[in-house]
Amino acid sequence: MTNGTTRREFLGTLAAFSLFPLEQEKPDLILHNGRIVTMNPTEPVAEAVAIARGQFFAVGKNADVLNLAAPGVRKIDLAGKTVLPGFIDAHSHPADAGLMHLRMVDCDLRSISAIQAALRERAAKMPAGEWALGFKYDDTKTEDARPLSIADLDAAVPDHPVHIQHRGGHTTYSNSLAFRKAGIDEKTPDPPGGKIDRDSTTGKLSGRVAESANAYFEKAIPHNFTREDHREGVKLISKMLAKTGITSATEAQGTPTDLRAYQDARDSGDLLYRAYCFINYRFIDSMIEAGVRTGLGDEWVRVGAMKLVCDGSISERTARLSAPYEGHPNDYGILVMTEEELYTHGRKAHLADWQIGTHANGDVGIDTTLRVYERLQKESPRRDPRFRLEHCTVVNDDLIARMKVLGAIPTPFSTYVYYHGEKMRYYGAERLNHMFALRSFLDAGIRATQASDYPPGEFIPMMALQSEVTRTDTKGNVWGPKQKITVEEAIRVGTINGAYASYEENLKGSIEAGKFADLVVLGRDPLKENPSTLVTIPVERTMAGGRWTFES
Ligand SMILES: [Zn+2]
Repeated sequence: MTNGTTRREFLGTLAAFSLFPLEQEKPDLILHNGRIVTMNPTEPVAEAVAIARGQFFAVGKNADVLNLAAPGVRKIDLAGKTVLPGFIDAHSHPADAGLMHLRMVDCDLRSISAIQAALRERAAKMPAGEWALGFKYDDTKTEDARPLSIADLDAAVPDHPVHIQHRGGHTTYSNSLAFRKAGIDEKTPDPPGGKIDRDSTTGKLSGRVAESANAYFEKAIPHNFTREDHREGVKLISKMLAKTGITSATEAQGTPTDLRAYQDARDSGDLLYRAYCFINYRFIDSMIEAGVRTGLGDEWVRVGAMKLVCDGSISERTARLSAPYEGHPNDYGILVMTEEELYTHGRKAHLADWQIGTHANGDVGIDTTLRVYERLQKESPRRDPRFRLEHCTVVNDDLIARMKVLGAIPTPFSTYVYYHGEKMRYYGAERLNHMFALRSFLDAGIRATQASDYPPGEFIPMMALQSEVTRTDTKGNVWGPKQKITVEEAIRVGTINGAYASYEENLKGSIEAGKFADLVVLGRDPLKENPSTLVTIPVERTMAGGRWTFES
């Protein structure tokens, strides 16, 4: 049970016995002798914190904070270790990812034959005919220098339908049996906003489909996860995130099922991060009808923005661009929804006081989304709508100026330059100076966040810092050096800015008295580290709401 609930129950008891004298609050834990980087401008560095009922009770010098200790209070000597606020991943898919880690084949492997072997092994344990599902396949990370084909998958597993998601989440790869079950053959036309890949000479299915064409498979694959499976998924991913220093994450494509899974995991004590659960636009009518809007919930599970998707993906090269992909003169990417559709769904949410988060990667996608937001705000002005541009990858001066006017929040990929360096050549050196544009955002006074988009991107905050500060990939290539930011800026982006993106900047994101006790203890100080080794800084402990969620 969480501290928050305990406290509510406690206050409830007080209300029933109003004469009960209020005991003066004392800290129940003190961390001292640390280098505490607070992200609070009035006290940037402290030595000690006192924690009471899951919140920071006092922050300051060792002597002052230790002075608050009542007999029996727990004290931990940090031995000079660096402490930062807990990291906030402002765009990720943790509940979904947890479920995938629980049930699917992890195809983050380095050769097609290794993927075939993993699928074969899994299929051997399943009754014939049952779907063999995979995730985190990445066509640019296998040594074969070609994508998975329908023949590869038929050869690996002929008697189970096989369906594998690309780690970007916008394209999938299937075998012949899966295509038959999905009702797709060579003559099936591309659906609007989607693509069924075919061999350019023979017209035969290649195995890959993109964007809205995935709906054929979604309909065919039985969704037989139990309520317990969903809770287990949250439990599993909770541990994975806590290990890296994350204390809050946005569920960026949430559903009512995810919302329930989060509540179940919270109640069983398995939720180790604060979840800001977006709701996919397909569910918005029933949510509005039920009187739900952004912000409903508590400090552990909160209803987030309504999610819309404007264009395609960066890692799979389907983002909608004004200039074509390098070496593909006719490929400008895909628009998933029309401007009118975005407006129609957006208007409903806007009028019902929902925040809106629209996936927009390419400059054309961002321009389209901004036009919708500008129109909504012009027709029905709201005081603080905090429109979000999910990813907001390829920008220009005009887009940034319009975002500033609107107060829009971008959530650019934090680890892509470092981790997905091999995909950067499709965008070209010049365009990279306008991608994941943290320098431009911060200079314009725009509150950009840290965001992994896991599974597409890695979620490790120390990797985010290195990627954002060095703009250098694992092979030493530098991509878009004009967008470098400092380590301190990167920490701010990953903490307090993330809190602002969910309207929670007064509750978390910095180490200040009154805020939730969310923090991470590091093995080395990132502000003194060589930027090219930031990713190697060990996370020693993570705390959320005064409870250790990870201890090494
Ligand atoms: Zn996403």
